[in-house]
Amino acid sequence: MTTCYIGLGGNISNELGTPDQHIRQAAAAFVASSAFEQVQLSSLYRSKAYGVTDQPDFYNAVLSANTSLLPLDLLDFCQSLEQAAGRVRLRHWGERSLDVDVLLYGDEQICHDRLIVPHRELMLRNFVLVPLLELDADLCVQGVRLDSCPLAHDMTGLEKLAAAGIE
Ligand code: ATP
Ligand code: CA
Ligand code: CA
Repeated sequence: MTTCYIGLGGNISNELGTPDQHIRQAAAAFVASSAFEQVQLSSLYRSKAYGVTDQPDFYNAVLSANTSLLPLDLLDFCQSLEQAAGRVRLRHWGERSLDVDVLLYGDEQICHDRLIVPHRELMLRNFVLVPLLELDADLCVQGVRLDSCPLAHDMTGLEKLAAAGIE
């Protein structure tokens, strides 16, 4: 089993639910799958859209789990959850019902056409760092303590909502 960290986000409601419901349903799918153990979900956060700013606020959370899946199979699982939430591709960094990113997969560095791990923007996003550190305050990535990243303590554009909880 390998410990993985997964970023969940979304800012579009559709017939399948609101963005926070998409996140809760995705977390429930990790719990339901026999490929994951010890699933934990951070609090839910609301964040201002990043990159492409003329779109609704995002909801974000981070999930951790021990998984038996190999990295590309984990990516396939994540992408199947995006499809299950009715994600349609509009524009890069644009609005979406659900985005499921592989943030970390053990200590592995993966550089594949479909998968780059650690996630390239991990240390550049407070909406990733803050919930990540909620799950493990001592987390290190390539020798760097995430707690030492300035953005890990910068709540600009970020609001902590209630604990998300896993159904
Ligand atoms: P960002 O990756 O900057 O958060 P995004 O999530 O909006 O942007 P997507 O359109 O969801 O990007 O994904 C584009 C492609 O990124 C996917 O098809 C996938 O193959 C690839 N990818 C590379 N590394 C990862 C990763 N660590 N997690 C998820 N997808 C990844
Ligand atoms: Ca993303
Ligand atoms: Ca993505």
